[in-house]
Amino acid sequence: MSKILVLGGGVIGLSTAMMLARRGHDVTVFERDGGPLPGSPEDAWLAWERRGIAQFRQAHYLQPAGTQLLDSHLPDVKQALVRAGCITFNVLATMPPTVADRTPREGDQRFTTITGRRSAIEYAVASVAENLLSVRRGVAVASLLTGPSAAKGIPHVTGVRTMDGEEVSADLIIDATGRASKLPDWLEASGARRPIEEAEDSGFIYYSRFFRSKNGLVPSWRARPLTHLDTFSLLTLPGDAGTWSVTVVISSGDAALKKLRDPKHWTALVAACPLHFHWLDGEPITDVQPMGGVIDRYRRFVVDGVPTATGIVSLGDSWACTNPSLGRGITMGLMQAVGTVDVAGQHLDNPLALALAHDSMTETRVTPWYRNTVEIDRMRIARFKAFIEGRPEPQPTDPRARVSDALAVAMMYDADLFRASLEIATVQALPQEVMRRPGVVDRIMEVASTHEVVVPPAPSRQQLLRMLHSERRELQLVPG
Ligand SMILES: Cc1cc2nc3c(=O)[nH]c(=O)nc-3n(C[C@H](O)[C@H](O)[C@H](O)COP(=O)(O)OP(=O)(O)OC[C@H]3O[C@@H](n4cnc5c(N)ncnc54)[C@H](O)[C@@H]3O)c2cc1C
Repeated sequence: MSKILVLGGGVIGLSTAMMLARRGHDVTVFERDGGPLPGSPEDAWLAWERRGIAQFRQAHYLQPAGTQLLDSHLPDVKQALVRAGCITFNVLATMPPTVADRTPREGDQRFTTITGRRSAIEYAVASVAENLLSVRRGVAVASLLTGPSAAKGIPHVTGVRTMDGEEVSADLIIDATGRASKLPDWLEASGARRPIEEAEDSGFIYYSRFFRSKNGLVPSWRARPLTHLDTFSLLTLPGDAGTWSVTVVISSGDAALKKLRDPKHWTALVAACPLHFHWLDGEPITDVQPMGGVIDRYRRFVVDGVPTATGIVSLGDSWACTNPSLGRGITMGLMQAVGTVDVAGQHLDNPLALALAHDSMTETRVTPWYRNTVEIDRMRIARFKAFIEGRPEPQPTDPRARVSDALAVAMMYDADLFRASLEIATVQALPQEVMRRPGVVDRIMEVASTHEVVVPPAPSRQQLLRMLHSERRELQLVPG
């Protein structure tokens, strides 16, 4: 049995800790926020102080691939999500009417997820974890302790020092302290090299509002959960206990649309979108909540083939974090958590092998999803900018991206291509895996070239700007 410290008691830290504890390790989680686990999911929503998770009351969705990982590795967490009132949802419900073939297919269950507000997910995960292992809340880690090197010339981390000066040693430290993780600074202060780091602010702002159903039902789907319009996108996500969120996503460079922070303008815009206005038909349970400055950031802790340190690995948002409009963060983190548990199972007695295997697992299984997400963010923001500046929509030069664009058209008509596209959106198959399947690219190009692009109805930019500059509360959807 090894002693393992997990830094950070968010979803990924706690999930990893539970899987390791189940393998017989002595696991302790240090969580900086001191607020104890509330008595119910609703108390978590209303009152759980979680300053460490800025997105705690922002829009949230768990992808089907994340649910599958819970099914296979943490089934009791899945059951806790059900008990917390999370909703079971099959994304095929969002198939547009333009797809004529509605016949079910074998394997359609893979598009089912269980999802809810972030507070309900955190509550469910934490309630299972606290029955299994020691979660020390209110303990902030301040720095790393090092000991004799396990591999020549590489600093070896043997424990942590908390803000209160307590020193705790362990065989393995897992940093899951989220997107604001100080791990590179901690490593440097311990004499280790900093990791490779790439970061960019894709430049999105999110304006989200939560609603509660008047009849217990979540609105029906007339569009995909994420609908791209010219200079904004709309995100509609089902939540737990009859709640849902509606988010308007804009470019942070779009000064004119920042007026959408005002509930009057925000409501007018959503009300003017024929496929989305019915999502306003509930009791608003929050104000319009803005969120911006969310960076995409990736780290690699093996530099020139050599780990920056042994005895510690980085996981979840501490390793890489992305913009949330695709709702992939927790699913990517769970993928990496499962891989980390496998790697620890094989190499806990060899710190160098563990560090290298962790890097290799991460690069193979999770980095491609990070890259894909950032590519999509970049293209989206470039398109927003082109529309704002009145330029033609930029077209991808990369052949794979061109096929992805064609898939976005073809999926609106072809039942199998709709499913293929969902596999990518739900984090089950990378675009390159889908495109490698025999005949798929030909079929995408054929359907796309023989069908019109489906443009969701919504106010034009001119109409939207006029609305934002008038005091009128209603936005008429008129031609032009
Ligand atoms: C606005 C927004 C919306 C999002 N929406 C989605 C979504 O819909 N679906 C999805 O899958 N992902 C979403 N994400 C991404 C998702 O939130 C993250 O990928 C996920 O939270 C990562 O989990 P984590 O456990 O790695 O980190 P976090 O959830 O950030 O947890 C880190 C924990 O570490 C603690 N901590 C920090 N420093 C210390 C310290 N020094 N000592 C001890 N503890 C410390 C913090 O208090 C916190 O509890 C969203 C992100 C944002 C910003």
